[in-house]
Amino acid sequence: MKPLTESEIRGAFVNCSKGEAKRLHVPRDLAEQPWDDLDFLGWRDPQAPDRSYLVAELDGRAVALALRSSSAAAGQARLSMCSMCLTTHSGGVSLMVAAKTGKAGQQGNTVGAYMCSDLACPLYVRGKKDAGIGARLHETLTLEEKIQRTVANLAAFIAKVTA
Ligand SMILES: [Zn+2]
Repeated sequence: MKPLTESEIRGAFVNCSKGEAKRLHVPRDLAEQPWDDLDFLGWRDPQAPDRSYLVAELDGRAVALALRSSSAAAGQARLSMCSMCLTTHSGGVSLMVAAKTGKAGQQGNTVGAYMCSDLACPLYVRGKKDAGIGARLHETLTLEEKIQRTVANLAAFIAKVTA
């Protein structure tokens, strides 16, 4: 994806207030992010470990989501699979919950998905980050197809949040 600036990222949040989008943690090292290998950029808030964020480019427009993760005490030890990139980790997958946009969100409606806890799906898909032994199912899909599938899964999640 094309590199984004801090103000582009802050302006892209769809499911939190403008005030929150202004205050939330955005990585300082944006210039060093591996943008060429990213379909989306995800990060955790170092001050608030249950908060994560992601920004993707959909149809040429940046869309960012604020997420809450459960620390998922249950099933910490067993393998679980990220529903975006289908990487399996032991203990490295969290339930990420996004408030819905608009009125539905104000009424407390949320959408959840199991995702890599570090939100590094694009790097796992490309083999740039290793999730450990047995982390990937053997698949006959090409890398391009796996990337497209991850993007489609993320787009479907964002569509549910903004529906
Ligand atoms: Zn993932």
